[in-house]
Amino acid sequence: MSPDALPSIFDLTRSELSDAIAELGEPAYRGKQIWKALYVEDATSFDEITTLPRLLRDRLAQRYRLDPLTAVLQRKSNDGLVEKTLFRLADGELIETVLMRYESRDGSRARRTACISTQAGCALGCTFCATGQQGFRRQLTAGEIAAQVLHVNRRLAAQAKPGEDKERVTNVVFMGMGEPFANYDNTMRAVGILNDDDGVRLGARHMTISTVGLVPQILKLADEPYQINLAISLHAPNDKIRSATMPINRRYPIARIMRACRTYISKTNRRISFEYVLLSGENDRPEHAEELGELLKGMLCHVNLIPVNATDAGYTRPPDGRIGKFRDILKRSGIAVTVRFEKGTDIDAGCGQLRARALTGAD
Ligand code: SF4
Repeated sequence: MSPDALPSIFDLTRSELSDAIAELGEPAYRGKQIWKALYVEDATSFDEITTLPRLLRDRLAQRYRLDPLTAVLQRKSNDGLVEKTLFRLADGELIETVLMRYESRDGSRARRTACISTQAGCALGCTFCATGQQGFRRQLTAGEIAAQVLHVNRRLAAQAKPGEDKERVTNVVFMGMGEPFANYDNTMRAVGILNDDDGVRLGARHMTISTVGLVPQILKLADEPYQINLAISLHAPNDKIRSATMPINRRYPIARIMRACRTYISKTNRRISFEYVLLSGENDRPEHAEELGELLKGMLCHVNLIPVNATDAGYTRPPDGRIGKFRDILKRSGIAVTVRFEKGTDIDAGCGQLRARALTGAD
């Protein structure tokens, strides 16, 4: 069998790896050694795992692929704070991962955030999103999702200067290509893999899943054991505007999403983030801010306003004055709000843009 056709070892959960090792007649501690090599020591081949006997390394290599991702293109923003990688999967599909550096400020700690993809392409067709314009290709496996974080970890480690501590990813946002809740089971498996105490050790509170508002999965997440953050891509204050830019709104209109959010908050007591991309002339007028304030009044939530990162779809960013006014109206309604400026616009860091360029040969 060609190595590319083998299953990825990163698709195994901790207990599945233990079972696989037991089936090979190996003692349990070998499973722990392999887990540590994959998730702490960033092994890139079975040969590197020298804590294992040669025979076991060979047997593993005959059964599993070790790295499901190949980096084919890398871009770094002019300010050095954003790095984007285009990966080719074993079957040739392309996905994107972004590393964003936030330096410590006003007492907050520095963050190294990986924005990762959960699907190759996306079926939901939001009009302002480059991925949405490219259609759906396939679901990513749990290993393909988790391995994006491992790649970023390796990249950070490679950039450490002699004598400096190696940096690691501190936060993960499931906001890259695809709708995580349309690939719910693999996304949650990846969360489990990344959260494991003997591996990557990313606290669930440092992970955020972003959804367009798939109601059944919002309710399902409320019953998961992980204290993971939930972000809803709202982008409009009413169904008329939302349905025009986000076709999924016809299936799950705003009132249903709000009901699910209230249930989620009452069960988890966790704050929800609402993402709101500001599109000039579409959803950025003062009356839209008033309507949004009414919609979210009294809810345990936070709003992130994101002036659009220009895409080929022809949307433009509102002028600064209008962004500030929108924010102030929300504040007056008692809503916690921040304006998040897109990082890395010089490297097509918006979701799906780099892949679109690679596919059309526009570079
Ligand atoms: S914004 Fe998210 S859900 Fe909408 S098309 Fe893009 S990737 Fe899909």
